[in-house]
Amino acid sequence: MKIHEYQAKQLFRQYNIPVPEGNVAFSVGGAKEATQNIGSFPVVVKAQIHAGGRGKGGGVKLASSMDEVQTVANEILGMTLVTHQTGPEGKLVKKLLIEAGQEIQKELYLSLLVDRATASVVIMASQDGGMDIETVAEETPERIIKVHVDPLLGIQGYHIRQVAFGLKIPPVAMKQFGALLSNLFKLFVENDCSLVEINPLILTSTNKVLALDAKLDFDSNALHRHKELMGLRDLDEEDPLEVEASGYNLNYINLDGNVGNIVNGAGLAMATMDIIKNAGATPANFMDVGGGASSEQVENAFRIILADEKVKAVLINIFGGILRCDIFAQGVVDAARKTNITIPVVVRMEGTNVDEGKKILADSGLTLTSALNLSDAAQKIAAAVN
Ligand code: GDP
Ligand code: MN
Repeated sequence: MKIHEYQAKQLFRQYNIPVPEGNVAFSVGGAKEATQNIGSFPVVVKAQIHAGGRGKGGGVKLASSMDEVQTVANEILGMTLVTHQTGPEGKLVKKLLIEAGQEIQKELYLSLLVDRATASVVIMASQDGGMDIETVAEETPERIIKVHVDPLLGIQGYHIRQVAFGLKIPPVAMKQFGALLSNLFKLFVENDCSLVEINPLILTSTNKVLALDAKLDFDSNALHRHKELMGLRDLDEEDPLEVEASGYNLNYINLDGNVGNIVNGAGLAMATMDIIKNAGATPANFMDVGGGASSEQVENAFRIILADEKVKAVLINIFGGILRCDIFAQGVVDAARKTNITIPVVVRMEGTNVDEGKKILADSGLTLTSALNLSDAAQKIAAAVN
């Protein structure tokens, strides 16, 4: 679960990680009030969306007077901000963060993330802050420092020194930087984060270290341990169909293609996306109805997929294990009767009670296309959309 920069900075404050003074605003009036509270210029007006690259897209602007705050806030609020992370459709800006402007001596990059390969927390840092870190990684990988921290050992002095020396932190700021990094590590572990990214972490003209930006991602599977964090979720930033699906315990992710999928089991869903691609079509979604999907769940899955305008055909791929094919087939028939299906549906079923399942589909009077096997299903669905 991602949160906004202003929320991440609030959490930073609780862990004594220095951030600029600032406040969230939901209107131009609110932006002016937040500026008043800061009491000095320049201030920075920042669009709050769940995506990075806002600066380049025109979503981060300095203002040196109240008039400028008004103009800039007016411009950014309500704009559709397009960055390399939003996709071409962009994101509507509904919130602003107004912050005291800082004098920057140096922009650095600092992040913590879970490294599955080494089962550790990796600290990534670079002197090339403020830039797109993916570009740095590609063009000048030697300018990225990686320090692995064993989660059982926790962060130690030598980890901090390794990062600080790599970033060429001046001696006068060393103590501050050490405290910041160890507090950041604490925040990361205590809140079950999967990513904390500060880009840029700045050294100010008076040699203070400060988190100028803050990006935070929590491990959604651990959120049940952090009831207080759930209130930070912003449904405005999430795909409405994905939000609806999560309410029904459906594992649904919206993609770019035009073949809708209903599959039981995440592994089978991945394999199904592969065969669709191999057959020359592209999946419109990932939809895992789980091992014991009820007919009600199948119906919800159908409705959500059909609500997606991109979808030109649906492939149902079921392996009947715990979920028997006859029960699933009945679910499909019930759902199809209730939902007005006007596009081709290809069904491939295998496993427990498959013959009974096929009979239910065949006797239903619905125009469903039955597939003999996986590759036949892929051919038929590709033919339906191409
Ligand atoms: P992002 O583009 O979404 O990553 O947004 P950031 O919060 O990182 O801001 C983008 C850039 O704006 C930073 O890299 C800085 O160069 C600049 N910026 C942000 N806040 C300030 C500030 O207080 N003073 C100055 N001089 N520049 C700032
Ligand atoms: Mn940034």
